[in-house]
Amino acid sequence: MSEQTKLQFAETGSAVKSGVKRIAIFGSTGSIGTQALDVIAAHPELFSVEVLTAHHNEELLIRQALKFMPNMVVIGDEKKYLKVKEALSPTPIKVFCGEKALEEVASMDCYDLMLAAIVGYAGLKPTVKAISNGKIVALANKETLVVAGDIVMKKAVEKRVPIIPVDSEHSAIFQCLIGETRNPIEKVILTASGGPFLGRKPNFLVNVKREHALQHPNWNMGAKITIDSATLMNKGLEMIEAKWLFNLKPEQIQVVIHPQSIIHSMVQFEDGSIKAQLGLPDMKLPIQYAISFPKRIRNEFPRYDFKKVHTLNFEEPDLKTFRNLALASEALQKGGNLPCIMNAANEIAVFAFLKNRIGFLEMTDVIEKTMQKVSFIAKPTLEEYFESDGEARTYAADLIQL
Ligand code: NAD
Ligand code: MG
Repeated sequence: MSEQTKLQFAETGSAVKSGVKRIAIFGSTGSIGTQALDVIAAHPELFSVEVLTAHHNEELLIRQALKFMPNMVVIGDEKKYLKVKEALSPTPIKVFCGEKALEEVASMDCYDLMLAAIVGYAGLKPTVKAISNGKIVALANKETLVVAGDIVMKKAVEKRVPIIPVDSEHSAIFQCLIGETRNPIEKVILTASGGPFLGRKPNFLVNVKREHALQHPNWNMGAKITIDSATLMNKGLEMIEAKWLFNLKPEQIQVVIHPQSIIHSMVQFEDGSIKAQLGLPDMKLPIQYAISFPKRIRNEFPRYDFKKVHTLNFEEPDLKTFRNLALASEALQKGGNLPCIMNAANEIAVFAFLKNRIGFLEMTDVIEKTMQKVSFIAKPTLEEYFESDGEARTYAADLIQL
């Protein structure tokens, strides 16, 4: 069991003394952020909202701030600052703007737990600041660990900060590990729905359009992760996320397609016993668990009924068709800055696909070429990760002529 896992189980319960956990939601206007606010609104005796941040959606940020009355808000887009400031001027809420403000606010003392729910690489720096600041991190932003997992986890252990997973698969693994701190993991089995194009072949995928790819069969999520789910890159990112969260070797991480998304993931121990965590596909549950851990809170979320869903299916992922998963496995094996390069190229490719600038299969070509082109560094510093990200973005954007 890793140092971080011991930390997660040992310290979170006692970290908040007052009884009311003060929450900072970074990315409050997104899919995870808004669901987290629903969870919090149902339990004012357990949680208070201290920080809300948004990138562009100032209208929603203002509504959220007026409802939850946080200590402070950050609007990423500086052009929106005055509007937010004015709308909140009758309140004591402090308003900040810009990318740097995210890091500054993450370094403040007004909260106990950061819900890291910004999408993409942009979530990395504020999360690193929260860890340096000794705050508990409930991590939805998987890209943080994909880009710089070694440095982030090392810092978390050094600062004795538990990183509690929000991603449903990692939450499932985390839940399976309770009571098992002395028992080594043989392997983890990450389940994947397969996305909207499960069973499809390249001759179909070549014509897929953004509207079609944005229709996920089981989960309602932000645009970037929905496309990542359709290409299976999401599962690739999650393999790398699992490696860092649970200190696993690449060969200990297996992906299984499970179209119903009822089993959220599994852990196999050394005696061959497999533990699984099940439930309906609803992110509110892992969000609630991450912010309330080690407690489980009663709720009214719909329950899974074994009488209604009769079949749970499992199959091998098709790595020949969904080549992003193969590229992510390669990045996982080679390590260094390769996952960071892959992530940057993927963010550019997904952005271009969402803008109808490239086709579905071209996303993989962009990622593969960028991974081949940007120089490999076996043991990068944080600065070198930032540089690799920038270099990969520039190269990928040039390929697409963005
Ligand atoms: P989303 O697009 O719905 O929301 C993203 C949030 O981040 C918004 O509040 C937006 O304002 C903010 N943001 C976007 N770009 C930013 C930038 N450059 N700087 C600062 N803030 C920025 O995304 P989401 O679906 O809520 O996903 C958030 C994270 O959680 C992702 O890393 C995703 O992989 C992970 N995750 C999401 C789900 C899900 O069900 N949505 C499940 C598991 C993991
Ligand atoms: Mg997931």
